[in-house]
Amino acid sequence: MSTSRILITALVASLAACAGPRMYNRTQTAVSPAGVSASTLQERAALPLRGKCIVVDPGHGGKDPGASAVDGSREKDHNLTIARLVAQQLKEAGATVFMTRSSDKFISLDDRAAMADRHHCDLFLSIHADAASNPSARGATVYRARGAQAASSECGEELLVALQQAGFPHRGLREAGFRVLMGHSRPSLLLECGFLSNTSDAANLSDPHWRARISNAVCRGVIAALRG
Ligand SMILES: [Zn+2]
Repeated sequence: MSTSRILITALVASLAACAGPRMYNRTQTAVSPAGVSASTLQERAALPLRGKCIVVDPGHGGKDPGASAVDGSREKDHNLTIARLVAQQLKEAGATVFMTRSSDKFISLDDRAAMADRHHCDLFLSIHADAASNPSARGATVYRARGAQAASSECGEELLVALQQAGFPHRGLREAGFRVLMGHSRPSLLLECGFLSNTSDAANLSDPHWRARISNAVCRGVIAALRG
């Protein structure tokens, strides 16, 4: 199968899985909580993020390449690829999605953060890939702002659950003073997808199947946290 065919197949499977099981359960239990019609429940199930606004932020870009990988690839490119997949799946789930960049372009940290307040988003989600001097360091890490509001923490926990369920090793929910987390008033998270300084993680980050799977896990986590 060609690479593009594999990617499309993986994406279709991911999108189906993203909305599938919960949609079925919600539909089956739609026996009429007071004042809510079955059609409304079906609508909510099919578009669990309807009415939600999410800003997806692919880290770095343009003159800022981010971390370098052991295989020579650049963080900014991985971030954009995965952020696009995440944004697409969130849209499929009904969310209004804005991206801080959709091409290889430099955007300042303040301009990225300003988008969160401008759109009054329900979540600002920054996508990155890590690097460390220890080549054995690996796995995803989720960051919330230092002193984060409850909504950020709850979403972070849901993201970790989704990553765990999908079999991704992770390093937990941590706090940081990153500008894109602290420079606005909206709920926010920063996901480091893996370590470009680790041979296995770097290979995963370049693998279309792996990218589709982690994007799907992120989508599931966001849905779990934000669904109405
Ligand atoms: Zn980064």
